[in-house]
Amino acid sequence: EGQVVHCIGCGAKVQTEDKDQLGYTPQSALDKGLANGEVYCQRCFRLRHYNEITPVSLTDDDFLKLLSQIRDTNSLIVYVVDIFDVNGSLIPGLHRFVGNNDVLLVGNKLDILPNSIKTSKVKDWLRQRANAAGIRPADVALVSAKSNQNVDQLLGQIDKLRDGKDVYVVGVTNVGKSTLINQIIKQATGIKELITTSRFPGTTLDQINIPLDDGQKIVDTPGIIQPEQVAHLLSGKELKLVTPNKTIKPRVYQLNPAQTLFLGGVARFDYVAGDAKHGFTLYVENNLFVHRTKLENATNFYEKHVGEMLTPPTAENVADFPKLVRHEFKTDKKSDIVLEGLGWITVPAGVTVAGYAPEGVAVLIRPAMI
Ligand code: GDP
Repeated sequence: EGQVVHCIGCGAKVQTEDKDQLGYTPQSALDKGLANGEVYCQRCFRLRHYNEITPVSLTDDDFLKLLSQIRDTNSLIVYVVDIFDVNGSLIPGLHRFVGNNDVLLVGNKLDILPNSIKTSKVKDWLRQRANAAGIRPADVALVSAKSNQNVDQLLGQIDKLRDGKDVYVVGVTNVGKSTLINQIIKQATGIKELITTSRFPGTTLDQINIPLDDGQKIVDTPGIIQPEQVAHLLSGKELKLVTPNKTIKPRVYQLNPAQTLFLGGVARFDYVAGDAKHGFTLYVENNLFVHRTKLENATNFYEKHVGEMLTPPTAENVADFPKLVRHEFKTDKKSDIVLEGLGWITVPAGVTVAGYAPEGVAVLIRPAMI
């Protein structure tokens, strides 16, 4: 009793009292964990073993406290975003808390992009989205934490930029920050036991410190929930159906004007106006069901079939699922219509199209990445 135990997944102080708070672990799991020296909180346990996202109640207040502590440090900030969901990766107010510290922007989940993608264009896109959020990265890196792609390169970039300073790794939940930290731990130290935990004084937040050779450290900070992520609109099972975890195989559709594609029931794409028989390339989860129909019937069709033929959402989630919001674009060059967190559609120059995504999910246009 009275002994403080930290989750080795997220660093939270383990507690057995309140299911809805950071660090909750059932007593039996805690006992088991202590016995084999690996205590995970329930949230990390579920994430690791069931691929299931449990929202953590980290209040905005606590998060702001954490960020303001970073502002007062002299450190390098490694800001991890999901390449596939850049808008859903934005940390509200981060630019105010960066201070004079350099930011290394890391785009994670590179493994899901097809090889034909030009990484320089992806970097430009990330930089541009960061700039729009008031952040000017000192450098941009693209990695796959999961398949261990470019992680050694990233460590090189970190070492160059940190110049003897501490490193703070920040990111919203689900961007793969924990997976990346795990890779870094493997490569940088090779020894799991080197992870020590400590806390920001005056906050309830916990962090994981990874010691570096020169006595400095890499600090993993807790994530904050970004409500605009698709992850928060769908259940774990549904999320699996729309989130690619393997390299995307592009799917080409020859469309005539006034035709519509439904991407399950989570998104819709209309070819509104332009020449006959244009090729449109879809970059979405490889098994996501795509249905082609006439634009004029599409809205009725959706209402009739969402939750059954057009799924996800599943029937039981239809009532809570946000309505699809329409965003229209006219192209003057080959472009991508980006449905943040869901994928994108490459469209030719000189067309009018509309992308629909659940309310709260951003739909944007960018120069084609291919
Ligand atoms: P955190 O909340 O930011 O710490 O995110 P996690 O590390 O728990 O990862 C969130 C989800 O993204 C998990 O399902 C991971 O398997 C997945 N993920 C993490 N990194 C990658 C990656 O590089 N590629 C792919 N395809 N998935 C990843």
